[in-house]
Amino acid sequence: MGGFLNRIFQFSIFNFISHPFISRSSSSLVIGHWTSVISNFLKMLLVSIIIITLYAAPVEPQSALTQLKTRAERTNYVETSRYDDVVAFLDTVAKASSLVHTTTFGYTFEGRPLPLAVVGRVSDAKPATVRASGKLRIYIQANIHAGEVEGKESALALVRDMALGHYAQWLDSMVLLVAPIYNADGNERVSLTNRGPQHGPIGGMGIRANAQGLNINRDNIKLDTPEARSMVKLLNDYDPHVMIDLHTTNGSHHAYHLTWEIPNNPAADPGITRLARDEWMPEVMKVIKAKYGWDLHSYGDVSGQPPDQVWTTVEDLPRYTHNYWGLRNRFGILSETYSYLTFEDRIATATRFLEEIINFAHTNASRVRKAANDADSQSLIARRLSLRSKVRRSDQKAEVLMGDTQEEVNPYSGHVILRRLDVRKPEQMWLEATFEPVELERVPSAYYLPAELRSAVDRLQAHGIRIERLNQPSTLELEEFHIESNQVVAQAFEGHQERTISGKYEPVKRTLPAGTYRVPMNQPLARLAFYLIEARSNDGLLTWNVLDEALKDSHVYPIVRSRR
Ligand SMILES: [Zn+2]
Repeated sequence: MGGFLNRIFQFSIFNFISHPFISRSSSSLVIGHWTSVISNFLKMLLVSIIIITLYAAPVEPQSALTQLKTRAERTNYVETSRYDDVVAFLDTVAKASSLVHTTTFGYTFEGRPLPLAVVGRVSDAKPATVRASGKLRIYIQANIHAGEVEGKESALALVRDMALGHYAQWLDSMVLLVAPIYNADGNERVSLTNRGPQHGPIGGMGIRANAQGLNINRDNIKLDTPEARSMVKLLNDYDPHVMIDLHTTNGSHHAYHLTWEIPNNPAADPGITRLARDEWMPEVMKVIKAKYGWDLHSYGDVSGQPPDQVWTTVEDLPRYTHNYWGLRNRFGILSETYSYLTFEDRIATATRFLEEIINFAHTNASRVRKAANDADSQSLIARRLSLRSKVRRSDQKAEVLMGDTQEEVNPYSGHVILRRLDVRKPEQMWLEATFEPVELERVPSAYYLPAELRSAVDRLQAHGIRIERLNQPSTLELEEFHIESNQVVAQAFEGHQERTISGKYEPVKRTLPAGTYRVPMNQPLARLAFYLIEARSNDGLLTWNVLDEALKDSHVYPIVRSRR
């Protein structure tokens, strides 16, 4: 652009300044001369304006963006983006737009850097810059299960469209952090049949697990995968207020375009869960129904036979990403588009859901931020929080829309895939949508870990929990958990045999040596620390064998707590 524009501009300037030096002898010629000068000046101005309008500023970048397509768009929704496609796509957008900055937030097991796009009116992608903006921070994560690929395509298109100026109002209130390809290793293990009867992409999709064979969406407590550790580091660095985890459900054959869930563990902050469940999600469902005629519902799978069918949500354990985010005092939203919509329709569904989630966040930005900040600043010490829960069944049955599918054949593999039919079959079911505590425990002012529990300390620190060390021996009034039973489940799960102990706390006076780790509970992540550390937690460090070595031949739990 530069050379061409400069040449025309210089030509106009030359025309303008050359005329005044043409010699004139009479006054009429002088008047004529100045008329000509003004006319030339106006001509030059006009030419310049036209040129600037046509050629200046973002001509090349904008055309690069308008021509930029995701692999799904380019292939008419036959294929999904590979890792290199994602990286190249985001680089192109970032080069073309000052609203998008790219960086990476960690690594996969095979060492692929995990791409992150930061979308907002900020000067760079650094965590400090993003936090200093003071805006609401929303983290969008796609592809944790790499056969569930439409979130990736939707997230990429969203970043591009924002660079093109769509949704500009959002950037008044927020910065978006977009991780389109979280399970990047799984994404690259493409096969046509990885998702069974899911309706495409018929050119194949990745696998559910990461390259270690682990489900990253069960790894949020134990942090055995580099991907989960990278995500947790991202949370510690950028501290998003809202997180959205994009999946695809191939469970019950219902009539919903999308089912969702929010942090469901009763130990999560009620201010956050109430706003999410009672206002945010109902508003999103109402708007999407009004705009597109699509039904959405809270997540569920159907069990039992009529007339006693039950629609039951996913467990409330923080090993699941959205529940983990909840125990960090943040809005975690699980999105599950329906597997038997076509790939193209699933991308559209994910996009419409994101749009309405973000619209609500934009309209309610200060409330959303305040709910997260309030949860961080409230002291939990001496309060009783849930450690074990059971699902709560609704008092009355409610209408659930069941659907239907028809069989089609993947033309490349010949295997049967299912396509959603636009039918709604209302059925009355019990709803099991929330959980209630069955066991509560007091939150102490501190926990104490012996120095040799390195592996536990490593986990706590990776989660971002603040830990101190005793620099001299301290004699303290404490409580120690005396173990009455200690069991592991026979069946290994995610490489572990989950452990449970029972017993009770006894008051003790102990002198703890210098070097003992102290976890103070007057910190924003106290809720998470409590759930990780407490002896009876149903999804803590003990559950995942992190304390096995210390428990060997021992009748006391190795971590003690303050008496108040
Ligand atoms: Zn999934």
